[in-house]
Amino acid sequence: MFGTLSDRLSGILSGLTRRGSLTEDDVNAALREVRKALLEADVALEVVRTFTEKVRERAVGAEVLKSITPGQQVIKIVNDVLIDTLGGEGEGITFDAVPPVPILMVGLQGSGKTTSTAKIAKRLTERNKKRVLMASLDTRRPAAMEQLAILGQQVGVATLPIVAGQSAVQIARRAVEAARLGGFDVVMLDTAGRVTLDDTLMAEVAEVKAATNPHEVLLVADALTGQDAVNTARAFDARVGLTGIVLTRMDGDGRGGAALSMRAVTGKPIKLVGTGEKTDALEDFHPSRVANRILG
Ligand code: GDP
Repeated sequence: MFGTLSDRLSGILSGLTRRGSLTEDDVNAALREVRKALLEADVALEVVRTFTEKVRERAVGAEVLKSITPGQQVIKIVNDVLIDTLGGEGEGITFDAVPPVPILMVGLQGSGKTTSTAKIAKRLTERNKKRVLMASLDTRRPAAMEQLAILGQQVGVATLPIVAGQSAVQIARRAVEAARLGGFDVVMLDTAGRVTLDDTLMAEVAEVKAATNPHEVLLVADALTGQDAVNTARAFDARVGLTGIVLTRMDGDGRGGAALSMRAVTGKPIKLVGTGEKTDALEDFHPSRVANRILG
């Protein structure tokens, strides 16, 4: 009914005869549509504000190129600001550390953390030719430990043998030691998730981080939860410090709002995106694709 943002911007500016540059009124009309579209895509309000200000700065007084319409000119500016805000291409996982390189996976229960751990391990094994060991630190949910072991078998990645009665930190230390002795390149630590953010969870994750000094701390967040995912990212970053984000369920009908908010609020790169339940449904993050989703 409303059309895509691109259509709306073209529509609103179509009445303009071609002039030398965009006026403040033209830009204000366009910005109203941009604001509406971002809010519909569930982008955080603070991000919408800074975003539209950036577009305004670039657009007011901008020369309209001879070859394009004012509408196309504004769409190009919005697209450029989207890509700037979403961050660069190809900020993948890094390994420039002495092996075994610890990677800590954090996030809420149900975000896709365990699945993403296995997906990443599979990719590192197959594409990067790394020897990977995975360990589940979820001491409260034996089913989670078994889930990781099953996924490990499916993707052909080793998992740390389960020993009952150990704390998360003890398991993490045992995993790093086993990886060192076994000549593994990477050790992935799948921390326990909770349904909601709570202090016990944060304290445990912080303790595991201090004990293992991970090279990457990746937050796994569900893109479909929008603003909640952003609040989760903010809380984890403040408490434990993140190096990047894995955004899952990008195969759902999310319009890219979570990606934009996450990156703008935390400043942390989105390193990978989950695009399905299967263990190979993992992709690099492409800002231009998300920009296209938002612009339509
Ligand atoms: P955890 O509690 O955070 O460890 O979550 P799980 O890894 O167990 O995932 C919860 C559910 O989400 C499972 O059914 C997964 O198959 C599913 N899932 C995980 N990532 C994705 C994704 O990118 N897309 C879709 N559609 N489902 C996913």
